[in-house]
Amino acid sequence: MNKKKILVTGGAGFLGSHLCTRLLNDGHDVVCLDNYFTGQKQNVVHLLDNPYFELIRHDVTMPFFIEVDEIYNLACPASPIHYQYNAIKTIKTSVMGAINMLGLAKRIKARILQASTSEVYGDPDIHPQPESYWGHVNPIGARACYDEGKRAAETLFVNYHKQNNVSIKIARIFNTYGPRMDPNDGRVVSNFIVQALKNQPITIYGEGTQTRSFQYVDDLIEGFVRLMASREEFTGPVNLGNPNEFTILQLAEMVIRLTNSKSKIVKHPLPPDDPTQRQPMIELAKKELDWAPKIPLEEGLVKTIEFFASII
Ligand code: NAD
Ligand code: UDP
Repeated sequence: MNKKKILVTGGAGFLGSHLCTRLLNDGHDVVCLDNYFTGQKQNVVHLLDNPYFELIRHDVTMPFFIEVDEIYNLACPASPIHYQYNAIKTIKTSVMGAINMLGLAKRIKARILQASTSEVYGDPDIHPQPESYWGHVNPIGARACYDEGKRAAETLFVNYHKQNNVSIKIARIFNTYGPRMDPNDGRVVSNFIVQALKNQPITIYGEGTQTRSFQYVDDLIEGFVRLMASREEFTGPVNLGNPNEFTILQLAEMVIRLTNSKSKIVKHPLPPDDPTQRQPMIELAKKELDWAPKIPLEEGLVKTIEFFASII
C-alpha cells in the first residue's frame, strides 16, 4: 500500500473527523488542523491514541508550513448560523485559507482537494443542478459571505492549476448529515432530530415546501477519497450529493415517525435568500469516479438518531 502523509484542514469538524478516521483506517499518516471555531476535540478524541494521527491548533487564514503528499481543505464554518456569526471572518477563511493552502500545495507539490458546496448555485433557476450551471447568488445577501467565499475559492483553485500547475480537485458538496453533527449549529437534520428526541416543537422555516437532497456522511467520504485518487487531468468541479430530493416537511414527518416523537410541527419565518430547491446531477461523479451514494435517507437517519440519542 502507498502510505501517504495527508493534511486535513477543518479536521475536527463534522465531515473532517469522519475523513480523518477513514484516512487512518486506510493506513495513512494524518495531520488534522483546526482552530476549533465550530469543530471540537471531542470529534477526534477516538483518534488521539493513534501514533499516525497529529492534531494541530491553527487558523487557515495564517500561513502554515508542513511536508505532506495531499491536502483536503475543509476549514470553514458550514451552517448558516455559524457562518453568519462573523461574516467577514467566514469570507477570509474561504479566500485566505484557499490562498494559504494552495501556496503550500504549490511549494511542496501536493495534490489539494477543496470542499466546495452546492451553495455556489445559490437559489438555482435550473433544476436539478449540473456542474455547468453558473448559479444564482445574491452577492450582498445574508448567505454571500459563505457562497461568494466558496466561489472565489473555486476561482483560486482553478487559477493555481492553470498558472502554477497545482494538482487540484474541487468537490461541490450537497447537504450532508450523520453522526458528529453539532446539535447546536442549526442545520435542519440536527435541529429536527434533537427537537423530536426531546418531544419539542419541530421548527419548519416557511411552509416546508423548499427541497433539499440529503447525503449520508459515509457516502460523501467515499466520494472524497475517490476524487482525490482520480486521474490527474480530472479537476472537477464535481457534484457529490444524493439525488433523492425531499421537502423539508417530508423530512420533518420522517424524523417524527423514526423517533416515535410526540413533537408537533410549528412554522417559523423563512430566512432571507433560503434556496427553494436543491438536487444534484451526479452523472459526472458516476462517470469519472464510479461513485454514487448508497445509503437511503431513512437508513442514514436511523444511524444519526442513534448518535443524537447517545449525546442528549
Ligand atoms: P463543521 O463546521 O463541522 O467543520 C468545519 C471545521 O473547520 C470546524 O472544525 C472548524 O472549527 C474549522 N474551521 C473553521 N474556520 C477555520 C479556520 N479559519 N481555520 C481552521 N479551521 C477552521 O462543518 P462541516 O459540515 O464538517 O463542513 C466541512 C466543510 O465542508 C466546509 O468547508 C463546508 O463548507 C463544506 N460543506 C459541508 C456541507 C455539509 O452539508 N456538511 C455541504 C457543503 C459544503
Ligand atoms: N430549516 C428548517 N428548520 C430548521 C432548520 C432549517 O425548516 O430548524 C430549513 C432551512 O430554512 C432550509 C433547509 O431547512 O430551507 C436546510 O437548512 P440547513 O441550514 O440545514 O442547510 P442549507 O439551507 O444551507 O441547505
